[in-house]
Amino acid sequence: MGLSGKDARLITVEKVTRTKKDPGSELEKVVDLGYVGEPKAVDTTLLNALITAEDDYIPVVAPIGVSQTGETYNVNADTVAGALAGALGAKRMLLLTDVAGVLDKDGELVRQMTVAEARQAIAGRRRHGRHDPQARDRDPRRRGRRRGSGHPGRPPPARHAGRALHRARRGDPDLPVDLSHIDTWLFDLDNTLYPAESGFMAAIVDRMTDYVQKVTGLPRDEAYALQKTYLTEHGLTLKGMMIHHGVDPLEFHAIFHDLSLEALVHDPEMLAALERLPGRRLIFTNADDVHAERVLTRLGLGHLFDDVFHIGSAGYWPKPSPEAFARIGAAHAVDPAVTAFFEDSERNLAPAHDLGMTTVLVGPWAAQSHAPLCPPPHRQARAVPAGRAPT
Ligand SMILES: [Mg+2]
Repeated sequence: MGLSGKDARLITVEKVTRTKKDPGSELEKVVDLGYVGEPKAVDTTLLNALITAEDDYIPVVAPIGVSQTGETYNVNADTVAGALAGALGAKRMLLLTDVAGVLDKDGELVRQMTVAEARQAIAGRRRHGRHDPQARDRDPRRRGRRRGSGHPGRPPPARHAGRALHRARRGDPDLPVDLSHIDTWLFDLDNTLYPAESGFMAAIVDRMTDYVQKVTGLPRDEAYALQKTYLTEHGLTLKGMMIHHGVDPLEFHAIFHDLSLEALVHDPEMLAALERLPGRRLIFTNADDVHAERVLTRLGLGHLFDDVFHIGSAGYWPKPSPEAFARIGAAHAVDPAVTAFFEDSERNLAPAHDLGMTTVLVGPWAAQSHAPLCPPPHRQARAVPAGRAPT
């Protein structure tokens, strides 16, 4: 039986807060993680009723919790599983996961561990592992790998454009990009000007699935699959919905106009990084103008951009189509040789790279990418007359 942790107040949560030391002032700052919670109480009444019922019910619980005041929070699935197992007094807990398990210092799987040993190992990792990057470099399993990298030899990802700019300016050897000649700064919006970890994009995708489901009448999983197919085929779900279902783009975009912006927070690092850029800054997004303005205003970055080049400006030609690049090129006389483009989508960066722009991939996926992260500027620079599609 499918349940969520909200049903019958199964899982009561408290908002998770994390603190981070500000490198400038050395003060501890509270980092807002949005609607992420930790279980505080588990009411097993409903579960016990199901488990002990005459019919053979297997409760399947989605890792969602409810706060004292009734708000919905996301909770890590393994944390929820642990809390449920504890509250039920379970004898065994089995995890199906893509993580190997606990590894010892030689990288061997630890097959058995007491609670005391686990606590000791966690404390040891806090002392030597996570907060001591050099310890990680000394670790033989990580030798030849750079810190935080998902792939051997790949640099750690910059979580958003502000961090990438900051690192490039500092001359970080892991982000060897020359931005000294750039005078036009193109930025994607979603998951580029705020970190993907905010979860905001997930809410967008969710709304989109609701809509595809409404228009097509498909079950949710099939609607989601169709949404992804259109995204792959057309660069944008909306484009597929327009072509195959005659959807009105204005009606489609309206579904995002009342999305909660709570997950998006001001980021002083982003603001400072953008402020000091010489030249003009432009937004280049597949979203519509209303969404872009809402997000930029919420992030406190709206005043920094000369223009928001949105899906309407592009005549509903989304990135990565050559038409989208040709249109922004024409509208703003973009010279690729002095233009840098920051994006969280590798696919959307490819045409920019081909045009000769300096491209910077940001976000959690950057570590997994094998794409040229920052091609040396000018290497592929070709004069592409503004307004003409690249060939
Ligand atoms: Mg994006």
